[in-house]
Amino acid sequence: MPDADVIIIGAGMAGLTCGCLLAQKGLKVLMIEKNQKVGGCCTSFEKDGFSFDLSVQSLGECQEGGRIWRILKQLNLLDQIRFIPLEPAREYLFPDRKVSQSSKLETHIENLSSLFPGERKGIEKVYAVLKKIFEEFSSIPSSLNWFDPSSFLSQYPFFSQYKDKTYGELLDEFIFHPFLKTLLSIRSSYALLPPEEISAVGMAAIEMSYFNYGVSCVEGKVEQLPLKMGEALEKMGGQILTGHEVQQILIKEKKAMGVRLKDGREMTGKVAISNIDAHHTFSDLIGEDHIPTGFRSKLKGMRPALSYFILYLGIEGALDELPVSNNEVFFENQLQKEFQCLYENRIPEKAPFYLLAPSKVNPSHAPKGRNTLCLSCKATYHFSPDWDRKIKDELSQHLIHKASAFIPNLEKRIVVKMETTPKTIERWTRNRWGAAYGWAQTPKQSGIYRLSRTTPIPNLYLTGHWTSPGGGIAGVVASGELTAEAVLNRLERGE
Ligand SMILES: Cc1cc2nc3c(=O)[nH]c(=O)nc-3n(C[C@H](O)[C@H](O)[C@H](O)COP(=O)(O)OP(=O)(O)OC[C@H]3O[C@@H](n4cnc5c(N)ncnc54)[C@H](O)[C@@H]3O)c2cc1C
Repeated sequence: MPDADVIIIGAGMAGLTCGCLLAQKGLKVLMIEKNQKVGGCCTSFEKDGFSFDLSVQSLGECQEGGRIWRILKQLNLLDQIRFIPLEPAREYLFPDRKVSQSSKLETHIENLSSLFPGERKGIEKVYAVLKKIFEEFSSIPSSLNWFDPSSFLSQYPFFSQYKDKTYGELLDEFIFHPFLKTLLSIRSSYALLPPEEISAVGMAAIEMSYFNYGVSCVEGKVEQLPLKMGEALEKMGGQILTGHEVQQILIKEKKAMGVRLKDGREMTGKVAISNIDAHHTFSDLIGEDHIPTGFRSKLKGMRPALSYFILYLGIEGALDELPVSNNEVFFENQLQKEFQCLYENRIPEKAPFYLLAPSKVNPSHAPKGRNTLCLSCKATYHFSPDWDRKIKDELSQHLIHKASAFIPNLEKRIVVKMETTPKTIERWTRNRWGAAYGWAQTPKQSGIYRLSRTTPIPNLYLTGHWTSPGGGIAGVVASGELTAEAVLNRLERGE
């Protein structure tokens, strides 16, 4: 008898979603997580009375009816997690003006149309197309044959039309003014890509997951979300082994049949699900000899998303200087320029940066009379060979200097200072090069072209931001649901 029906490697938000849904159906789920707590990227930490969320700052699909709301409802957790709606979702600070991003699509369209009255029809068309692409993509069942062209074209016309296109190409069809294109593209930077590179499908998922059910943050620490889901899994009979790293996926007669931990213990399962970096899964835990050549070369040609350098600050005093908690500062109107530098492993002098003040919406993050700030910029893993203290200090100083233009005397007010680099993210999650969202959401790595949930190794499935639909908490919750559905179908067929 195997030790479990399903072994899940990694307890990120996707693995937890998938595990909870399978345990709820009565399957024996064993989850193995290398860290001492579950959550992966979706985690929090404390320092000298301040608390910080490692990465996740704003979530889509949390308000009533949204995907995250629905999974919490299904797990009876709605009374244990509260969400704070963010309206406006964010303010964009350009050198000569400030633009507000509403959480509500109608308000957002209205705001942009009042800035560019001649382009109202085009703006409406862009969002109508994104909405259609997202609806069609979300309705594709996990069992559908991805590559059946006849079913695709008739059932998913918008998705089919845009599946190979970039968002930049979609914008070119409907929008003329370059600055309006910038404003409509700002959230492509959430996927760490410029509009000329992000797929129309990837951008549809980002935009619609925020607009359909508003933008929110978790009240208190974001890690409440995975911690409560972990508790729910255990209540349903699932087991979570934290502090244990999977070193090998065991293969017998070309099928996955269990895992070996770093301490040498072996555990068997009918099905194994990997919630971790796809490269780490196939190259390190399985070994290239077991992988078909075609799949191996596909994997080698794929490109991970970029990463971030983040500076967390605890500061003295109020933050009345910032009217809203989430701000993004730009020094020029074109988004592409920054990426040209990043691809050469440089961070440009005029790089935009995120200026977040989480304690403005979550006062429990800071002691009374103090506040938290989170300053960050995009970064590549190879920007620095070892991300040593010198480089961290240089980047921190740079961000503090830039943020001082908005928060006078910032440097003198700092009482706590910590950084996260792409290397820290890689160490914590094992996501290669600190990739923040799995594979970059380019047309070749999005939608039907992203790695499938099923793999060339029978009994081995993927879930999380390295498979479809992609990164972000709402995206990986969807992935967890779809993988659970695929596994259930398979086990119910008795294979
Ligand atoms: C800096 C940053 C900012 C972000 N901001 C946002 C945001 O504001 N909003 C949003 O929605 N999304 C955001 N994201 C993206 C989002 O956090 C991720 O897409 C999502 O959390 C990934 O979840 P996952 O389940 O796929 O995997 P992960 O969170 O990567 O979890 C994988 C887990 O597997 C474990 N693991 C790895 N290897 C092994 C092994 N061999 N054995 C056992 N365990 C192992 C890891 O420890 C980890 O816990 C951000 C990400 C980053 C990095």
